[in-house]
Amino acid sequence: MRYTTSSHSHRHQHCMLWSKVAYIAVPILLLALIICTSFTNRHTLSSIFTRHKASQEKQFNGVVKSKEPRITSPPSGYAVPILCYHDFRDDGEHMRWVTPPKRFEAHLQMLNALGFKFLTMSEAVEIMRGRWDKPIPKRPVVITIDDGFRSAYKIAYPLLSKHGAKATLFIYTNAVGRFGLSWGQLKEMVQSGRIEVASHTVTHTNPNSLKKRLSPDDYRERLVYEFIASKRLLEHKLGVKVNGLAYTCGIVDSVAMEIARAAGYKWAVTIAPKPFTPHTNPYRIPRYGVSNSTTVLVLRKWLTSKTFAFAQLSHPMNCKVSH
Ligand SMILES: [Zn+2]
Repeated sequence: MRYTTSSHSHRHQHCMLWSKVAYIAVPILLLALIICTSFTNRHTLSSIFTRHKASQEKQFNGVVKSKEPRITSPPSGYAVPILCYHDFRDDGEHMRWVTPPKRFEAHLQMLNALGFKFLTMSEAVEIMRGRWDKPIPKRPVVITIDDGFRSAYKIAYPLLSKHGAKATLFIYTNAVGRFGLSWGQLKEMVQSGRIEVASHTVTHTNPNSLKKRLSPDDYRERLVYEFIASKRLLEHKLGVKVNGLAYTCGIVDSVAMEIARAAGYKWAVTIAPKPFTPHTNPYRIPRYGVSNSTTVLVLRKWLTSKTFAFAQLSHPMNCKVSH
């Protein structure tokens, strides 16, 4: 019993001791918990604030500061018709690759009326590569003008400006300042932001004639010269990066494609009645050749056809350029 009493008293003392410990320990534990929670919250809030601030900065600057460009793939079935013009004049009824100025203006008016959005070649390529950070136009079209005739400045450029259109000019450098456009005219057009300049070789020699008279090694060497020298001269004279190439007469083979890539071009165009799609080889981009029989009705028929399958378009086989 004593034992029991003593044991009871001991237990009582033990209980008292624990209640004292609890009396001190619980508030300490609670205090520690509050401090921990507060720290964690502060840490979380601080990181949220940092993220929010960073996001605000990005929005404010309008540019995503990430090093990786935003990737927006074009929708499946996306197809860009690329039109290839040459010279613009009224007295060219008997010349195949000539467009009367009034008809060119009617083409532009029709394209605007149908809601087409004008892109340069490089812009269309950026869309296809999924590197376009603006809304992708639903009805894109590219106007290209080959050879650098003076009419590109005197006729086409004012009409493109008047109708809010853009174009990519393919220039062969031997013509500049001689029987074609001047460097000053090219520079003025490039600086307008409306005209992109790309290469169309140095001498504009038909590759088939080169192949006939040159050995395979000499043919390769000649293409290296044609593609690299024209790119360098255009870049030097105009102070812009030249991204693209138009093969002379639209004639292309595997050697030409390989050299175009090695010469630093990002893309190259040919002539074939097909649209540019995400499946197109960037070194063999097709363009529809606009000839003297491409009336407004014909162009409208091409562009409103679902597949852009243009039956009557043809290739400029003779590729004779008169100046
Ligand atoms: Zn040409």
